[in-house]
Amino acid sequence: MAKTNLKDMSKGELESFVHKSGLPSYRTGQLIHWIYEKYVRSIDEITEFSKDLHKRLSEKAYISNLKPLKRESSNDGTEKYLFHLEDGETIESVLIPDADRITLCISSQAGCAMGCKFCLTGEIGLKRNLKAFEIVDQIISVKRVLSLESMVMTPREKRVTNIVFMGMGEPLANFDEVVEALWRMTEFMGISNRRITLSTAGITPKILEIADRSPHVNLAVSLNATTDEVRNRLMPLNKKYPIRSLLDACRRFPLEPRRKITFEYVMLDGINDRMDDARRLIRLLKGIRCKVNLIPFNPYEGSEFSRPSDEKILRFQKVLVNGGLTTLIRKSKGQDILAACGQLKAGYV
Ligand code: SAH
Ligand code: SF4
Repeated sequence: MAKTNLKDMSKGELESFVHKSGLPSYRTGQLIHWIYEKYVRSIDEITEFSKDLHKRLSEKAYISNLKPLKRESSNDGTEKYLFHLEDGETIESVLIPDADRITLCISSQAGCAMGCKFCLTGEIGLKRNLKAFEIVDQIISVKRVLSLESMVMTPREKRVTNIVFMGMGEPLANFDEVVEALWRMTEFMGISNRRITLSTAGITPKILEIADRSPHVNLAVSLNATTDEVRNRLMPLNKKYPIRSLLDACRRFPLEPRRKITFEYVMLDGINDRMDDARRLIRLLKGIRCKVNLIPFNPYEGSEFSRPSDEKILRFQKVLVNGGLTTLIRKSKGQDILAACGQLKAGYV
């Protein structure tokens, strides 16, 4: 009989596994603790269990592991991890250290079906959805690497503090698995929902559904244009969910007190960076508690776009700020190793 993967189980499934194995119910909590907080890679590593219990459990179950096959470091401290999945597909995660936080940017799909014209992941197309455990395992695997390292060397302990769904894939196109992954991240791993951000290209109906079905994480929306004409061209998804419907959903999104929606805006030279765009953006976002992140385009080979000059970007920012919008320019990290937004390809092209 094929063994079952303990990492591929929800809380209910683990409970029923423990029950069917004739074990007391507290074993469920122990399994969750050892898998999600101690990052064990096999049942035998659970030192709290007896040899006899190791044997009994190992006869029908195992714990899968996402092993980083490649780890590249950028000269700005960013690290990119390449993972091979069990069926040979590949994904990437990016670790981004900042002054006050260390953010892990994770993937929700291998590739992406949305086909945004400025994004290398979009060029790959969709290979497949990730399962909840493959999403969560990116975090476990990187945390494990960092915790082993901090035992032997690092000058300063490296600890993942924030999680963003801004790697490969459109999280709301893999809705059920992403929702389950969010529950496991908050309930099993103890990551605060305030430290998790889900970024979407704008699958409008799912924006409202996610608020009902998952822990209340931060929402980021990739707006990237101020007219349907331009957005249709950049993001084909806009033909189905145009700007008005997207922003309507954002207006209705149940934001918790003191939280804001982040609007991401990739800046493309001569395409969406005019002063008219800035003024339209102010009008469009009226009445939404939000902030804007300007992301200067990260180039890759074969792309038709380029990034506006720093001067242009600063001018754009100034108009937004004067219009009352909190606006940051996101520094693009890890460009030398193709680890910045929109540059993830996991060896596919
Ligand atoms: N699919 C989701 C999350 C992954 S993309 C989404 O689209 O929101 C994460 C962010 O990277 C998005 O805001 C996207 O607009 C941005 N991005 C994609 N390609 C980029 C590029 N070449 N340069 C800069 N930002 C890019
Ligand atoms: Fe997919 Fe996001 Fe890239 Fe668009 S920007 S292709 S939605 S990963």
